[in-house]
Amino acid sequence: MEKVSKSALVIGGGIAGIQAALDLADMGIHVDMVEKKPCIGGRMAQLDKTFPTNDCSICILAPKLSECYRHPNITLYSYSEVQKVEGSAGNFSAEILKRARYIKEEECINCGLCVEKCPMRVEDEFDRELRKRRAIYIYYLQGVPAIMTIDKEKCLWFTKNACRICEKTCEREAIDFEQEDQIIKLENIGSIIVATGYSLIEDIDKDVLKNYGYGKFRNVVSALEFERLECASGPQGGHIKRFSDGKTPKKIAFLQCIGSRSDRVEKYCSSICCMYTTKEAMIAYEHDNELESYVFYIDMRAGGKGFQSFLRRGAAEYNIKYIKSKIAQITVDEKENPIIIYEDLDNDKITQLKVDLVVLATCIVPPQGIDNLAEILGIELNDYNFIKTTPFIPVETSKNGVFTCGCVHEPMDIPRSVAEASGAAAKAAEIIRGG
Ligand SMILES: Cc1cc2nc3c(=O)[nH]c(=O)nc-3n(C[C@H](O)[C@H](O)[C@H](O)COP(=O)(O)OP(=O)(O)OC[C@H]3O[C@@H](n4cnc5c(N)ncnc54)[C@H](O)[C@@H]3O)c2cc1C
Repeated sequence: MEKVSKSALVIGGGIAGIQAALDLADMGIHVDMVEKKPCIGGRMAQLDKTFPTNDCSICILAPKLSECYRHPNITLYSYSEVQKVEGSAGNFSAEILKRARYIKEEECINCGLCVEKCPMRVEDEFDRELRKRRAIYIYYLQGVPAIMTIDKEKCLWFTKNACRICEKTCEREAIDFEQEDQIIKLENIGSIIVATGYSLIEDIDKDVLKNYGYGKFRNVVSALEFERLECASGPQGGHIKRFSDGKTPKKIAFLQCIGSRSDRVEKYCSSICCMYTTKEAMIAYEHDNELESYVFYIDMRAGGKGFQSFLRRGAAEYNIKYIKSKIAQITVDEKENPIIIYEDLDNDKITQLKVDLVVLATCIVPPQGIDNLAEILGIELNDYNFIKTTPFIPVETSKNGVFTCGCVHEPMDIPRSVAEASGAAAKAAEIIRGG
């Protein structure tokens, strides 16, 4: 294939960014990929299984992670952020801040000896703070690049001038407390793809979920927390237990539209929750086939190939009961069993249901830091703070040469994120290869 002198910059290493980078790299275009977290993978790495096939999420993702890391046409800057972008379509330049991991990347082999010895326990962000990690850590078990990172905020050496046990333990002398942040300058960028995904409402404002008992009652969890609980590599080893008493829940209520389609929080629909809720209930049933699940919904928005039959299978084969309803309040009894008080819209009555566990399908919101990134790139955001795109060309932003894909411009599922990523890559390549 003909060599091209211009490269592409992909911001965000979730499934959308990874797919866009791989498509471009396979076209012979060099890609610089910038990911804020220590490892690529995004939210898909946190999921247990994925609808509509209920395949293991990490099993689908892992080959793409390593392909992306090893591709000769992709340079990955993980634990990094874009600080500055100048120029225009066909000829951008950028400045990347590469944060110090305090690890010599070429020496670390992810053996884990340092982790075993580190005395500091810290909330594990990847596991939604449902367990602790150490101050030296790998972002997640199958994370790529498979390199340790030292959490400067928590490490005893940085906070108290003590310890350095990891340094003594590391047989490869990979620890480097003198390492500094680096600024990397990139020139000759033909096009940019923004794929920085989404946050969840509880990451921005936990208070709006108080009415549903989140953060107040131990047996109320968010849907992403529930994904981690279902996952074999998650905090409960895949055996779902209540936080109040360690018992396996036999009745779970899944509450839809928590923060979405609401006048008080966000007016838009998060689009994927109807489907992933049924998936989560199905997987929980596969763990324990005595389970009863109740899905409280406003209306079902399952618009995709095979989606309706997925929901019907949920009801027919997985003991899921769908209740068209409006939630009034969640409270608990003396044993911390959640009680849902709701309006049953099919039977026109106010009633209640006692369950063992509540799972909240919380609202998808724009990723943290999107305002700053939009300003750096000179692109517009829409009324809800997602990236504004051209009507009928969902990968085109308000700036020529800057494209987007995945949840950063609206909530969407993985298949659509992947399809859009290929669309964004094609548009980016058009500029780089001159049509
Ligand atoms: C509970 C739950 C269950 C779900 N289950 C399913 C399912 O079963 N099937 C399905 O199809 N979909 C499911 N989804 C949706 C799925 O998570 C998304 O479709 C998918 O993750 C979108 O990928 P993305 O790359 O757009 O975003 P993300 O996965 O969010 O990736 C974005 C990446 O960009 C990085 N980033 C953010 N800001 C910056 C920055 N400033 N600079 C550099 N990098 C940055 C992030 O760290 C992240 O790695 C589920 C979602 C939730 C919440």
